[in-house]
Amino acid sequence: MDVKLDPSRDDLPLMANTSHILVKHYVLDLDVDFESQIIEGTIVLFFESGNRFKKRSSSTEVACLSESNEACKFRMPEPCQIPVTNTKTFSSKIGYNDFVICGKGEKDTSGKDGNHDNQEQASGISSSKYCCDTGNHGSEEFLLVLDCCDISVLKVEEVDVAAVPGIEKFTRSPKLRNQIVHELVALPADRWREQLDYYALCSQAPGCGELLFDTDTWSLQIRKTGAQTATDFPHAIRIRYRTKPQGRSVTWTSDQSGRPCVYTVGSPINNRALFPCQEPPVAMSTWQATVRAAASLVVLMSGENSAEPTQLREGYSSWHYYVTMPMPASTFTIAVGSWTEMKPEICSSNDLATERSFSPSEADFRYVGVCGHMEYPCRFQNASATTQKIIPHRVFAPACLKRVCQETLLPLIPPCLSAAHSVLGTHPFSRLDILIVPANFSSLGMASPHIVFLSQSTLTGMSQLCGTRLCHEIAHAWFGLAIGARDWTEEWLSEGFATHLEDVFWAKAQQLAPHEAREQQKLRACLRWHRLQDEVQNSPEEMQVLRPNKEKTGHVSDSGSSVIRHGLNPEKVFMQVHYLKGYFLLQFLAKTLGEDTYFSFLRKFVHTFHGQLILSQDFLQMLLENIPEEKRLELSVGNIFRDWLESSGIPQPLQRERQALAECGLAQQVSAEVAKWVRVNRRPRKRKRKDREEVFEKLLPDQLVLLLEHLLEQKTVTPRTLQSLERTYHLSEQDAEVRHRWCELIVKHKYTKAYRDVERFLQEDQAMGIYLYGELMLSEDPRQQHLARRKDHSENLFHASACSPGGPRLAWTQDIKGRAMGLLKPAVSGRLRLVG
Ligand SMILES: [Zn+2]
Repeated sequence: MDVKLDPSRDDLPLMANTSHILVKHYVLDLDVDFESQIIEGTIVLFFESGNRFKKRSSSTEVACLSESNEACKFRMPEPCQIPVTNTKTFSSKIGYNDFVICGKGEKDTSGKDGNHDNQEQASGISSSKYCCDTGNHGSEEFLLVLDCCDISVLKVEEVDVAAVPGIEKFTRSPKLRNQIVHELVALPADRWREQLDYYALCSQAPGCGELLFDTDTWSLQIRKTGAQTATDFPHAIRIRYRTKPQGRSVTWTSDQSGRPCVYTVGSPINNRALFPCQEPPVAMSTWQATVRAAASLVVLMSGENSAEPTQLREGYSSWHYYVTMPMPASTFTIAVGSWTEMKPEICSSNDLATERSFSPSEADFRYVGVCGHMEYPCRFQNASATTQKIIPHRVFAPACLKRVCQETLLPLIPPCLSAAHSVLGTHPFSRLDILIVPANFSSLGMASPHIVFLSQSTLTGMSQLCGTRLCHEIAHAWFGLAIGARDWTEEWLSEGFATHLEDVFWAKAQQLAPHEAREQQKLRACLRWHRLQDEVQNSPEEMQVLRPNKEKTGHVSDSGSSVIRHGLNPEKVFMQVHYLKGYFLLQFLAKTLGEDTYFSFLRKFVHTFHGQLILSQDFLQMLLENIPEEKRLELSVGNIFRDWLESSGIPQPLQRERQALAECGLAQQVSAEVAKWVRVNRRPRKRKRKDREEVFEKLLPDQLVLLLEHLLEQKTVTPRTLQSLERTYHLSEQDAEVRHRWCELIVKHKYTKAYRDVERFLQEDQAMGIYLYGELMLSEDPRQQHLARRKDHSENLFHASACSPGGPRLAWTQDIKGRAMGLLKPAVSGRLRLVG
């Protein structure tokens, strides 16, 4: 290995040697067993060797590094080749994971007990050691390195693709297996269906020789006796394996109806504990998966077909999904549980009209090749797909959430999808499933290809929180998925964009008049400004930088492996700086250039870069090139790097915006209401007759958040005032963002009458509850500690955060404002806020 790892660091290694060989397609064939909490089966990997890349890359590398401020645009010179020059890429982990806290499984995942690797436990299988001559790594043989952990590998073999009937039509050399795979991988996009079918047939072909393998903490290494180069190494291999119950890629748990379910977590180690894979995003691949589970269960997955189950032997059914758009393996998602599809009470004819499906059909893709990405059946080249405002969608949830889904979520989906289309154009994905995930899911939402996970916390209160969160996840289809970050540390490229776009989409979805939209967006800017200030005051400076690798961004070792700085640092998931600073940068650019200019550029950008990975300079360079000189002012890529992306703290240009934020009408209205509440709070219990009753204005949910944040700064708030607050705004019925501030007030002032609201929050809003939990634990009040320690939710909360009370990682302390927070030793964590 050319990456030296220091286990005391919180960096995440990406081990796969993607410079030598690249996975082009995965075929998964899996059984999900809830009894043992194990997923078991096979994965077949189809490769393209990277020899051509090796020869070319050095010159590209030099060219790119020498013009560090220039966009290094890597286009495919010709369709159907390996994305050779793309291979320069870095580490992965597109920031599509909107995580509040480091969500992991419900088992102890401390990583210190030695369970978190691929080594067999006492009761495990010993084939790894049996098969592999571990002392032989210095041999001349080519070593395939896959990212892999918490997995038991049972067997690795070469697949005899030449044995598949009919396969000879792809090749002039029907006996050469690697030649067959090469030609299969290279089929043109209009033959995608045939390609998928042959991948499936090949995956079932007999084995033709076991391969030697070995595992260590983070990788699976495979070699073949006598195969000295990647070209000689088998290009189709089958790995039989099983996951481990404590594996950090999947969470085994119960849904809101108490029935078992399992879902992928997405962070921080992506899918490497679900299947052995090449994690770096440069290994963009397609996949298909057949998953068997009990017939009572629903299997959802990132797949472009909306699969229906096939009945198997008694009590079991099988589900098959596929994608034809190459994407990083880290974007794959699966969820299995007893979910029900939620449909509107009455199906309107209007909805039916929009449900027409545009699955890729051969005839539709005659113009493939115009796009900048490697070849696949792209919706941007499909006339009927480009005009489709609302893509087909389904909603799944436990049956007990039917009413709230029908009332809150279902009506929001068409306007939000349509709003996104009106801003950005073509939906990159052909359909969307939305799953309401179990209560212990550790964030408000997560977007993957064709599927979005939403927390049940988005379903309470008015439509505001649900609508904005849905818009945020929909925006990730473009930024985070269709256009991914080439360097994981540049997370703002997905989170900043999604945060900026969520306001724009949401204003359109609500059909707000332009001045109303502007006012609401200013108010949200105010709230985010407060959060950013909080965060920069409470986090280490080095973690406040959006482009920490500077000119070395995207750098990988010769083999393609790399280390993601802070990738495993639990503190990172507490931080929102990428969301917030990224959002403010884009807001600043849109304002400077004019909204119309900015959004018409953004459509052009999406058209140019969809299906590809980018670095910050790709975006900024193209933006400035497309702006007339008189509008460009003093903006340059260098200035933006310096002011926004490579400095800690609040960016200079944003400091100057402060005045504009203060002029927000909706925020001023809140200040006036706060003044009234302060007066009310100061009044003696027995009022004189002449005292006027205060009349309070009706406030929007975001205004309520701001109001409660202001009131949280008051030293004392009397129980009488708190009661009156609750009655005036019906706080316990508001959305989770508002209720969170309300619970903070309750805890701060020990307002025992409303402890049931805190208890309910800890139970039902676990993605956000961890911070409140910390406050309760810190208090010296026995009743509050009792609230926190109630077993049923405290366990979930701590498992959701993957930290154990009093454990080595986490201690509770106070930030400079005296608020509680999980202190992640040794550095001081920022105040935990609800990650947007
Ligand atoms: Zn395209």
